[in-house]
Amino acid sequence: MRLTNTLSGRKEEFIPGGSPVKMYVCGPTPYDSAHIGHAMSYVIFDVLRRYLEYRGYAVKHVQNFTDIDDKIIARAREAGVSPSDLAEKYIAEFFRDMDDLNVARAHVYPRVTREIPDIIAAIKSLVEKGFAYVTPAGNVYFSVRKYPRYGELSHRRPDEMLAGARVEAGEDKADPLDFALWKAARPGEPAWESPWGPGRPGWHIECSVMSLKYLGEELDIHGGGQDLIFPHHENERAQSEALTGRVPFVRYWVHNGLLQLGGEKMSKSLGNLITVREALERYSADGLRVFILSSHYRRPLLFTEEAVQAAARGAERLRFAARQPARGDAPLDFDPDGFRARFIEAMDDDLNTPEALAALFDLAREVNRAREAGQDIRPAQEVLLELAGVLGLRLETPAAELAARPFIDLLVEVRSELRSRKLFDLSDRIRDRLRELGIILEDTPQGTVWRVGRGG
Ligand SMILES: [Zn+2]
Ligand SMILES: [Zn+2]
Repeated sequence: MRLTNTLSGRKEEFIPGGSPVKMYVCGPTPYDSAHIGHAMSYVIFDVLRRYLEYRGYAVKHVQNFTDIDDKIIARAREAGVSPSDLAEKYIAEFFRDMDDLNVARAHVYPRVTREIPDIIAAIKSLVEKGFAYVTPAGNVYFSVRKYPRYGELSHRRPDEMLAGARVEAGEDKADPLDFALWKAARPGEPAWESPWGPGRPGWHIECSVMSLKYLGEELDIHGGGQDLIFPHHENERAQSEALTGRVPFVRYWVHNGLLQLGGEKMSKSLGNLITVREALERYSADGLRVFILSSHYRRPLLFTEEAVQAAARGAERLRFAARQPARGDAPLDFDPDGFRARFIEAMDDDLNTPEALAALFDLAREVNRAREAGQDIRPAQEVLLELAGVLGLRLETPAAELAARPFIDLLVEVRSELRSRKLFDLSDRIRDRLRELGIILEDTPQGTVWRVGRGG
């Protein structure tokens, strides 16, 4: 398999350092509901993990919660609750959202507030090694110029980075490029005791410490959105390699493009946020996943109502092909394995999910054609379900339809009886009313069958 490594900027053959594949994905800061932009990133890394597992790799997946940070503190203050209660609420919501999106759970979910002693030990070690310094105010900063490879990951020159760097009010760093490892406590904020006085960790150090602790000194895959490349991952790389002396910290840096809404990056400030919950009220999880995967993961994904609706219809077509019972047992006249080969070829090429989905849609079309021709489509349906599962698509019949099934069967039976008695006005009324409700009846030589769908 080939994966684009942000560090080299090229597609590289994926060769893990050992087994299991060690995968770390930067997790959320739980201060608000997850939106579609978050869902996009977690669905993409979920598919990467599922595909690696499908190809026979064992994967250990770690994802953190940044459960203390400025945004959490500010939001908790507004809401009149403690930062930990606020974080707890949104962590629970995050799990519910991701479960509903069929994102497989990581193996470990470390949280900053539970890792403070390890974080302090790491900062101490960076100070001892000369990569960090303590200020009289009790802040600790990483000294960027001590780490010669800084800027390589984000492909920025030091002068470029300097142009964007600022010393914020209350910061006492020696160089604008430096970043905080430990922030001295401010009044009214949560704080932990440390050798430098009470305070809390900076954002970047947590991911270095947690990945080191739960996955070891060398990760195979470090993932996140492209907005994390700089400064977060650049800083993480500097900290980790300075801490362990081991290069590389990460074998493959994998970053997804960002969700755009009306051409803008989706962010809170635009006020056009769609939460995962709202999206799941309108669309199936399969529909949302097909939408996300219909664009290559490194490209920006443009969210429009039409695009999601088209994806939802696509998911429904796959489900229909995968779940409709066969109408006959004539031998299948095509080989579904060819579609599996196409799928694998696409996924091996830097996780080309649009091509992989195209293979699934073509397979679904063949299944429907073979079904009309009275063939035993079950072997092809098995391949369709197998490959859809790699993309995390369940293709399950909605619970409402399952519940309605016996009643629809009963109506179909009554209608057949009416037809045999030539009471066509009544039998047609049943057919037309069911059609209005989205149930399509088809009269075949073997009897009447029904399906859920739009139009004839
Ligand atoms: Zn990270
Ligand atoms: Zn991170």
